[in-house]
Amino acid sequence: MSKTTDIAKSTIVLVGAGLGGLALLEKLSTSINPDKHSLILIDARPALMHLISTLRLIVSDSDNLLEKAIHPYGTHTFRNKFVGNASFIHASVTEIKFGDSELLLNNGQTVKYDVLVLATGSVWPRPIAFPNESREAIIEHVKSRRAEFEKATNILLVGGGAVGIELSGELRDAFPTKPITIIHRERLLLNSTYPDKFRIRMQRQLETRSIAVLTDDYISDSDLASVSESQVPSAGFVSARGTKLNPDLVVPTWGNRPNTSYLPSSVLSSSSRVKILPTFQLPDHPNVFAFGDIIDWDEQHMAGKAVAFHAPKVATNVMLYLNLVESAGPDAKVDLSASKKSVKYTGSFEGLAITNGKASGLGFLDVLWGITLSGWVVSMIKSKGLFVSGLSKVTGYTPSTSK
Ligand SMILES: Cc1cc2nc3c(=O)[nH]c(=O)nc-3n(C[C@H](O)[C@H](O)[C@H](O)COP(=O)(O)OP(=O)(O)OC[C@H]3O[C@@H](n4cnc5c(N)ncnc54)[C@H](O)[C@@H]3O)c2cc1C
Repeated sequence: MSKTTDIAKSTIVLVGAGLGGLALLEKLSTSINPDKHSLILIDARPALMHLISTLRLIVSDSDNLLEKAIHPYGTHTFRNKFVGNASFIHASVTEIKFGDSELLLNNGQTVKYDVLVLATGSVWPRPIAFPNESREAIIEHVKSRRAEFEKATNILLVGGGAVGIELSGELRDAFPTKPITIIHRERLLLNSTYPDKFRIRMQRQLETRSIAVLTDDYISDSDLASVSESQVPSAGFVSARGTKLNPDLVVPTWGNRPNTSYLPSSVLSSSSRVKILPTFQLPDHPNVFAFGDIIDWDEQHMAGKAVAFHAPKVATNVMLYLNLVESAGPDAKVDLSASKKSVKYTGSFEGLAITNGKASGLGFLDVLWGITLSGWVVSMIKSKGLFVSGLSKVTGYTPSTSK
């Protein structure tokens, strides 16, 4: 078992190099003192999976996303004051020994930290639950999903949240005539964070593209348990409301949950999210911070929040914490919340943009009286390009576009 630590400097360990993690890295890269601080970045995958574009990625090779949406981590990941002062480990954290300030990894390594930041995101439904071990395994997963969609003649998506809706739109773009149905337990698509009017408009928009939507309805748990993704009883299903369904491909698109299985229940809420103070610190572990999808905060978890509203505050507080510890000495207790310079999270506002294939979609901003963004606006902002063109700026990696 090897130990990774730099005893001369304070070590910041960042677990999770997703959209939130990389935003924090960028912020810290300009504010650390390279003589005093170093960083270790750990991610279970060898490459960033750009989640926002993955539903197009798994349906077809449109936009060459295999090249453009999977960005390997490497020395290019580290910029500014992290150049030569940071390292990447491709491994999963399996346990945190808070008392010893160390992490255990699935490759047998132990990593010591002075400050730890957790940004491990969500576990997504099977179609976008990408493997961890290698880029090749990720590509294999993508190709298998594409082959399943190509072969299917009648597709049922179980779950009408953002993933189900966006997937249905991508499928419709790729397969203009295949029957596609979404079944959703709730009264209307999405959830009650969004106004009924918006949820109904979303449904109408899908229906105009011949995507059938069944709401307030579900497949029984025993039926769901009896099928794996592509094995459907030939007799089909009868939904709870009595609709006969005959899909030859059933795709789970519901049930994303926080990726926190490596953490003890003592630091988690009943919904398995990480309990935090407004400074993003764990209440009983002042040198441990968490942000992004995993936090127990009453909000819809989105990249926009992790990047724009969480990461800048976490960066300020991490630097302040390190400076306070340095002034007070290693054994002194530091109360970050009490410092006037610490920044507290008070929440942000809700907003989302949902694609419906490349040329359509719908958006909602919970500001003023509640603003709905039209299909044209959402297609310009999101659906057309899925934010892929800005990714190199975030990852430092430039894909070869010649392939
Ligand atoms: C199809 C789709 C569309 C979306 N569209 C939007 C959108 O338009 N706008 C928006 O704001 N949000 C959108 N989101 C949500 C957004 O992608 C997430 O909210 C965001 O990525 C969360 O950022 P994060 O840094 O918390 O986690 P992630 O970006 O998920 O990153 C977590 C990282 O942690 C790593 N990790 C996990 N466990 C471990 C471990 N034990 N050890 C080491 N590493 C680990 C993972 O490999 C991953 O790289 C979308 C999501 C999906 C799936």
